[in-house]
Amino acid sequence: MQLPSWQTPNLGTMKRAALWLVQVVGEGNSFTKEQLRDAFRGVAQVDRRMRDLRDFGWKIDTNREDVTLEANEQRFVTMGEPVWEPGKATKKVSSSITAAQRRELLARDGYKCRSCGIAAGEAYSSDTYETAQLDVARRQLTLTDGTGAVQLVIECNRCRVGGRELTVDLNEVMGRIHRLSALERKIIAGWIAADKREFSELESLWAAYRTLPAESRDEVRGGLG
Ligand SMILES: [Zn+2]
Repeated sequence: MQLPSWQTPNLGTMKRAALWLVQVVGEGNSFTKEQLRDAFRGVAQVDRRMRDLRDFGWKIDTNREDVTLEANEQRFVTMGEPVWEPGKATKKVSSSITAAQRRELLARDGYKCRSCGIAAGEAYSSDTYETAQLDVARRQLTLTDGTGAVQLVIECNRCRVGGRELTVDLNEVMGRIHRLSALERKIIAGWIAADKREFSELESLWAAYRTLPAESRDEVRGGLG
């Protein structure tokens, strides 16, 4: 079957983004946000519509899932449902989250991003005006019985997308390093030399626990006895 062109104007942004991945990027290849925005110049929320493809089995990795990617890159790993075919793009409605469910999820997760801990409306750092918006994300998990599951968790826009263009002030970073105590500076020098942070078992368990959706947090809490 001949695929419609990704440039077909009246196809809808999600379907066009799917076709752009297949026809321009190609499975297994990475692309940047700039390339996506250039291809869809003037089209609102193309990033968001592309993320919607994940609800149809499309695997599109950010640098959260694939550490070889830069912050502004994503990789088109595998295609999911051919959403451009009639009837294939309709289950979004049933898998969408109601306003009541969203409020309940927000309350349950403490009105904070479970991945980075930021609250809604809070600025990401004192030198940017970008503030966090919280939303519901679908987290893939392997349950204790080995089966796969998707649980809902609150995440901020930045954690969901996997990093945005950030302006980092190196002087500010250096200034903060110089204000550290000698011991703290020695610790960070070690992490910098190794290019990774050494986590203690306790810290790494805490990090794994705090990003879990509520059902899984309950299970871990229950398992502590
Ligand atoms: Zn976050």
